[in-house]
Amino acid sequence: LMRWDTLAVHAGTEPDPSTGAIMTPVYMTSTYVQEAPGVHKGYEYSRTKNPTRSALEEALAALEQGRFGLALSSGMAAADLVMHLLKPGDKILATNDLYGGTYRLFKQVYEPLGFQFTFTDLTKTEKVAELLKKERYQLLWIETPTNPLLKVYDIAQLCEIAKEQNTIVVVDNTFASPYLQQPLTLGATIVLHSATKYLGGHSDVVLGALILNDETLAEKLYFLQNSIGSIAGPMDSYLVLRGIKTLHVRMERHCKNAMAVAKFLSQHPKVKVVHYPGLSSHPQHAIAKRQMKNGFGGMVSFELVSDNIEDGIRFMQKLKIFSLAESLGGVESLVSHPASMTHASIAPEERRKAGLNDTLIRLSVGIEDEQDLIEDLEQALNAI
Ligand code: PLP
Repeated sequence: LMRWDTLAVHAGTEPDPSTGAIMTPVYMTSTYVQEAPGVHKGYEYSRTKNPTRSALEEALAALEQGRFGLALSSGMAAADLVMHLLKPGDKILATNDLYGGTYRLFKQVYEPLGFQFTFTDLTKTEKVAELLKKERYQLLWIETPTNPLLKVYDIAQLCEIAKEQNTIVVVDNTFASPYLQQPLTLGATIVLHSATKYLGGHSDVVLGALILNDETLAEKLYFLQNSIGSIAGPMDSYLVLRGIKTLHVRMERHCKNAMAVAKFLSQHPKVKVVHYPGLSSHPQHAIAKRQMKNGFGGMVSFELVSDNIEDGIRFMQKLKIFSLAESLGGVESLVSHPASMTHASIAPEERRKAGLNDTLIRLSVGIEDEQDLIEDLEQALNAI
C-alpha cells in the first residue's frame, strides 16, 4: 500500500499503453469509435466519460481515501450537483460562515425553489445536536477552516451527531486540501473541492470535485452529472492532475510560510488580531491540531488596529509581492479585503455583526521566500 505522498504523484496515472507516455495524455475527443454497437474500450462519449477526466477522478479519490471521484466544471457545479440529490421541501443545515458563492447558490437559486436552509455556528455542537434532534435535516454542510475568519469545526463530532438521522454530511475541504485533512475518514459522506485552489495550485484552471465512499450515492451523482452535463474538460482535468503531483510539497511550504506570517503579524503593533488555526491563541486550536494532520494551511486573516476602511485599502496597495486578487491556493501570494471586495454587497452593520470588520485583510500565503513575504507586509504596515 502506497503512502500519501507517493499516491499524490502516482494515483490515477499509468504509462499510456500505446506510446509509453508517462503523463496521462489530454484526450481531446468527444466520441470513441466502436467495433460494433456497444462494443468499445469503456468509452462512448466524453460527457459520460473521458480518459483524462477518469485519471483525475481516480487521483482525487485516492487522495481523500475515498472510492469514487467526480471532476466537474467548477466548485460551484460540484455544490449544485450535490443539491440535485435533494428535493424541494428538504432541509439543509449549513455553517453561517460559508463561502459567499455557496451562500448565493443556496439563498438565491435553491431557497426560491422551496429548499429550506438554516445557517448556524457549527462550533456550537450542542446547538447543532439540538437542531438535528428537533427535525430531520437531509443535509449538513460543513466548511472548515472557514472563509475569511478561519474558524475550525470538529468534523468527527459533527458527523457523529448527523449519523443518528442519516443526514448526508458534505465537507467543503477546499481550504485545507486532502494533504491536511481527509473528512471521509472522519465520517463525512461527501467531500467537495474547488480544485481551482490548492489542488490545481497554479491559478490557471477552474474545476470542482466530489469524492465519496457510498456506492449508491456515487451512482446517483454520476447519473446526475451525465444528465446535467457539468463535466470538467480534458485540458482542465490534465492541469489539476498535474497540480496534484506536487500538492504535498506545495502545502508544506504554504503551511510553513503562513505560520511565519501569522507569527510576524501577531507581534506587530498595528495589528489587532490574527486568525490562523496554527496559533495557540486561535479559539479552536486544539481541534485544528487533532484534525489537520500535516499543518494549518496557507490562509491567514488579520485585522488592523485602525478601523478606517481606507487604511485597509492603502495597506493592500502598498504591498509589492502580495497581489490584490480574489481566489487563493496558488503558488503566488494574494491579498484580499472582504469589506470592499467579496463581502461588499452586505450592509456594513451586518458585515461587522458577522465579525467581518472594515480592516479585516485576508492573505493567501504563497510559496515564495518567507522573509520576502514578511518584509513586504512590514513595509506596507509601516506605510499606513
Ligand atoms: N468553496 C470554497 C471554500 C471556495 O473558496 C470556492 C471558490 O472560491 C468555491 C467553493 C467555489 O469554487 P469555484 O470557484 O471553483 O466554482
